[in-house]
Formats: sequence, structure tokens, C-alpha cells
Amino acid sequence: MKAVCWHGANDVRVDTVPDPKILNPRDAIVKITSTAICGSDLHLYDGFIPTMEKGDILGHEFMGEVVEVGSGVNNIKVGDRVVVPFTISCGNCFFCNRDLWSLCDNSNPNAWIAEKLMGHSPAGLFGYSHMLGGYAGGQAEYARVPFADVGLFKIPDGLTDEQVLFLTDIFPTGYMAAENCRIQSGDIVAVWGCGPVGQFAIKSAFILGAERVIAIDRIPERLRLAETYGGAETINYEDADPGEVLKEMTGGRGPDAVIDAVGMEAHSMDAMGVYDKVKQAVRLETDRPTALRQVLVACRKGGNVSIPGVYGGFLDKIPMGAAFNKGLTFRMGQTHVHKYLRPLLELIQEGKIDPSFIITHKLPLEQAPHAYEIFKHKKDNCIKVVLKP
Ligand SMILES: [Zn+2]
Ligand SMILES: [Zn+2]
Repeated sequence: MKAVCWHGANDVRVDTVPDPKILNPRDAIVKITSTAICGSDLHLYDGFIPTMEKGDILGHEFMGEVVEVGSGVNNIKVGDRVVVPFTISCGNCFFCNRDLWSLCDNSNPNAWIAEKLMGHSPAGLFGYSHMLGGYAGGQAEYARVPFADVGLFKIPDGLTDEQVLFLTDIFPTGYMAAENCRIQSGDIVAVWGCGPVGQFAIKSAFILGAERVIAIDRIPERLRLAETYGGAETINYEDADPGEVLKEMTGGRGPDAVIDAVGMEAHSMDAMGVYDKVKQAVRLETDRPTALRQVLVACRKGGNVSIPGVYGGFLDKIPMGAAFNKGLTFRMGQTHVHKYLRPLLELIQEGKIDPSFIITHKLPLEQAPHAYEIFKHKKDNCIKVVLKP
């Protein structure tokens, strides 16, 4: 089959590789009809996630048709149309039983690597390094889905791929980010980063009762989408210091909740940003946490900090003093996708949201190298790419 393979920093290729096979009774094979490139794929593309190997198949946002199931899968059959959560979960462990699906204890066969770095291992993820399981991803013609009886989610008739594809990651991720803000009516929520997750966080914050959402980015198309589709007020951080503007916009108090939908590769021109770039380039720092620093300083006293943006390792110069003295509450982590599939599908069916609004490009899988380039550099007004195998 054809698959998008990682060959090093800024080097992805469409290779011909062996078709996936059923390895365990709870596996299924899915013929992929749509797959997307995610902002977190760029951390792999840029070479910042350790334990990638040449030839690894990328992709964790995919859906399609079931073509084979293992003997242990009874609730899914060949021909079912399904979406696949990016987190792999067993459905039976301490964490799965507590709805903490992205913390599953049984889905990362390489848990020991993650344990060395983090003490404990999160769930395995599709197409996201050997430290997180070494699973082949879904930017391909076919994929093997482990724990398919728990992981595959059947899609009812009448919905397009484009409407449901983002249930795999970015819609639940944006929604959980908003939920983590513990929004009360009248709240003002500030969202750093108007990429796909930021856009879904904006929509979700309103759905959950926010009165105002203020979005921060520097790319005009993204800010425009946040205003027109999301209904957010916006700040271009290249024009003004977002912290200062937010103070003015909130009567000096600051937003009730802040969302860092940027993560480890923030762009910044200030002294701290240069410091991060240099340290990250020589591998003394794993992440460039500009957005995280800003959200902690901007958040109102006693406010909620929600972090859907991906962080990988050790962060420098985090204003912990601000967080502590202002009594901030942090919530973060990989998304518990399984928990959100049904309620968010209902929002789509009720017409409360149509996730296809985010798509700017649809390209054949063969054009993946070009797609990564335009997505990374936000060329051609690119916000979200869907690849069609
Ligand atoms: Zn993703
Ligand atoms: Zn589990």
C-alpha cells in the first residue's frame, strides 16, 4: 500500500510499504477514505519528537471502512464506516474505567521509554513515535487498529467524511480544552493559537456558555476565521502585546480562563523567544513555551488554565510565581477522545457545529510532501489539509 513515511526533519515521502495485517484478536483493518495532517504532526516533521525512526508511517486523524476484523471483535463488522480516535485505549484498565482514555495503561508496548522521561506512560498513539507505541499511522491506504472493539466508532448514514473526520482528534481536543476552563455563564475565555484546535476551542467555549472569547494569533486568515465562524474578538500579537490588550478588554481583571492551543513550537520575536530558539536548537530545551508563559501572566487571579497544545519535555522560565500567587488551576493532557465521540457526534447531527468549516485544502495522499510544506508554512492560506488515499 501507499503510506506517508517519516524520513527525518522536513522529509516525508509517500512510500510503498507492506499492507497491515491482523496481529491480535482485538485488531481490525480499516481502508482509509480520509485522513488529515495535524498541527502536532508538525512537531514530528520538524524533528522535535524523540524516538522517530526512518520509515515510520505518520498520521493520527483518519477514518474509513472496516475491511477485516479479528476473532475478538464482535461489535464491529466488515463494511462498517468508522472514525478512529488518535488515542489507543484498552477499555478495561484503571484509567479507561475512569474515562481517562488517553492515559490507558495497556496500549503502549514501549511504556518503559516514556516512563524514563515522565515517570509513567500515557496511552499509545497512532503514528506518533516509538516512545508512544510505535504504531503505524493513518496517512496511508490502510491501517491496523488495536482494541478495535473499543476504538472504532461507527458513523451513522447521511454524514460526509468531512463532517465527522475531526472527531478523531481536533474537535474533541478543542472541546476538552474549553471544558477544562470550567466555564461559568458570563465568563471571558482567551485562546492563544487560532489553528484548528484553537478554532474548535473557540466554538466549544461558546457552546459551553462563555460570554466572550478573545483569540490571539498572527496569521490574518486564522484571525478572520476566528471572527467570522467562531464569533471571537481577536488580537494580532504582532501588532500589540496580548497581555496588555486583554487587560484593557477585561476592565483590568484579565480573562477568567485561558487556553494555550499553541504548544511547544511557539513563535516569538522577543528576548525570551530568542532564548528558547537557541536552547532548543542545541537541544538544551525541548520546547519553546512562549504561549504558556503569556497565558499564565494574562489569566485573571483564581482563573483556569487549559493546555491542549502539545508539550514534550522540559520547559524553561515558566512563571510559576505568577501561577502560584494568582491561585491558578491547571488542566491539560492528551484528549480522552473516546469520552467525547458520542456527545460531539450529536452536536454535529443537531447542526450545532459543522467541523468541515476548518478545511482549506483537500489533496490526494500522493501530494503529502507538498501538503506538509504548505501546512507548516501556512502558504496558500492553508489552515487544515485533508488527504484522500
Ligand atoms: Zn491531531
Ligand atoms: Zn486502558
